[in-house]
Amino acid sequence: MNINDKRNSLVRHPSKRYRRRAISEIRNIAIHHSATTSGSAEAFARYHVNSLDWPGIAYHYVVNKDGSIDLCHDPEVVSYHVGNSNGRALGICMVGDFRTQTLERAQRNATLKLVRKLLNDFNLSVEDVWGHIEFPGYAWKPCPSISMEQFRASLREGRAIPTSSPIVIPSQPTNRTILSQGDRGDDVRAIQQRLNNLGFEPGPIDGIFGPLTVDAVQRFQRSARIVVDGVVGPETRRALDNFNASGEQIEHGAPSDEPDAREEQFSGETRRMLRLMQPMMRGQDVAEVQEKVGALIDGIYGPGTENRVMEFQRRNNLAVDGIVGPITWRALDRLAGNQPTYERLLSVQSPMLRGEDVKHVQRALNVQVDGIYGPNTERAVRDFQRRSGIRIDGIVGQQTWNRLF
Ligand SMILES: [Zn+2]
Repeated sequence: MNINDKRNSLVRHPSKRYRRRAISEIRNIAIHHSATTSGSAEAFARYHVNSLDWPGIAYHYVVNKDGSIDLCHDPEVVSYHVGNSNGRALGICMVGDFRTQTLERAQRNATLKLVRKLLNDFNLSVEDVWGHIEFPGYAWKPCPSISMEQFRASLREGRAIPTSSPIVIPSQPTNRTILSQGDRGDDVRAIQQRLNNLGFEPGPIDGIFGPLTVDAVQRFQRSARIVVDGVVGPETRRALDNFNASGEQIEHGAPSDEPDAREEQFSGETRRMLRLMQPMMRGQDVAEVQEKVGALIDGIYGPGTENRVMEFQRRNNLAVDGIVGPITWRALDRLAGNQPTYERLLSVQSPMLRGEDVKHVQRALNVQVDGIYGPNTERAVRDFQRRSGIRIDGIVGQQTWNRLF
């Protein structure tokens, strides 16, 4: 892998610095595109520092179109790219605007290789690789505008994507209502021509509805905000007719990628974020969620579980996105039945204090839940107090209790 170390050469803010984290806090890899047709780590750094007034470039890595990779930050740096999830995510940006451009092999393969290496380095799994749009709060953002299911499938397979099929010249002038992969003819050619005119680069205008055309149709559908299925039916035809190619261009690295006041609820959450993906996420954590939201308990995060999670989110006035992220986890924790209330000061004593109230605090702080108020719990309380800007004494009094719950 060709990695250029740019950690010390990119523009940085004169005074602001990103905070740092322990490597063990990295739980997700976030995939972005730059939403610019060209660009470089240098250009993004200038934009993020000079225009957005950020401490430095948003990304840990930038993957260029030729497959070369720029290292921009240590993994410990908590840069801005996925809002409140910044603390748990490491950001990779592929140069390009994949709403209209195709992610070509060199860049795609370099990104896959880099991600595989990072998964190994940080002991993460393919399920932890999320597109920007898949993070809580970002369902509106067309980033990275590639199919993350396919990207994850390629990561699992551990090999490169196949090249496009060979070109054969067909000539079957037909006029079908629905066109999909495998179809050939002048009606396909007309769709390719239209996609090409709109800047979606479907590859050769050859009248063959092959993988490149599917890819272009999907990118178009994503841009047009209609169902993304790679099939040209009535809705897609209408959208192709009406599409305004000079539509809004959302500049990447927007101020929304800075954390907000809810970051406190995100930081310190060590559990996986769960969502519907293919193949589905499995585990004890999924079963725990299912039990709490009243879904069938099989430990597999499928559509039924997602529905129940969304109902739960709606009832609790949370963002209804079907993702179990830190805020939904906290809300689920509060379901735990008989909630202990504040009864006594908790501090390290001899003998050590024990009880349900201690467990309650430990659960909220994501430390080992043994019900004994020892040095580890005290340390976590101090960290929490520091983050919350309240008096740092390692003692849970009424104020700290109220902040925790
Ligand atoms: Zn992004």
